[in-house]
Amino acid sequence: MSQKTRGRRESRLGPRDALAMGAGIASASAAARPRAKAKPSPVRPEDERFMRLALAEAAASDFPLGAVIVREGKVVSTGRNLGVTNDDPTAHGEMAAIRRFVAEHPAKDLKGATLYTTGEPCPMCMGAIVWCGLGRVVYAASVEQLSKHVGQIMITSRALAEATPFADIEITGGLLAPEALALFDKN
Ligand SMILES: [Zn+2]
Repeated sequence: MSQKTRGRRESRLGPRDALAMGAGIASASAAARPRAKAKPSPVRPEDERFMRLALAEAAASDFPLGAVIVREGKVVSTGRNLGVTNDDPTAHGEMAAIRRFVAEHPAKDLKGATLYTTGEPCPMCMGAIVWCGLGRVVYAASVEQLSKHVGQIMITSRALAEATPFADIEITGGLLAPEALALFDKN
């Protein structure tokens, strides 16, 4: 095929074809793709205090999941699950905290911030977290643990971050998990 012919053929392809081609290229070059940086990180001294604030959000929620965002040692946003209250299945605690922040601040100020959440972020929330460039996630109960109480998409936050070449994020899991899970028994 000449260069000219190929150009004409490709110009007839719609966006769906382009997406399909992109997916093919991505899987073919998966081995060569640079690994995203999803680093496990140890619990830090300040983590418990912020996780307790997330637990308080969860306890006050219509569904016991909550989150806080911390930047330079200060809480800059909070969120609790509002799925029932707002009749919005996307209103997870992490989404609520991110949306509240960006409603009032430039989104770039989320870069490098830490999000504390009582439940490991689902793929929707983890997607939002990496799109916003947060630097660290600290969660209490894991997706695996949550799945015993509520339906979960069985993809870990780490798996999503590792599949995202531009992600550069630290992940700490399991902090105060029993307390986060106990909230489901009170519900
Ligand atoms: Zn979520």
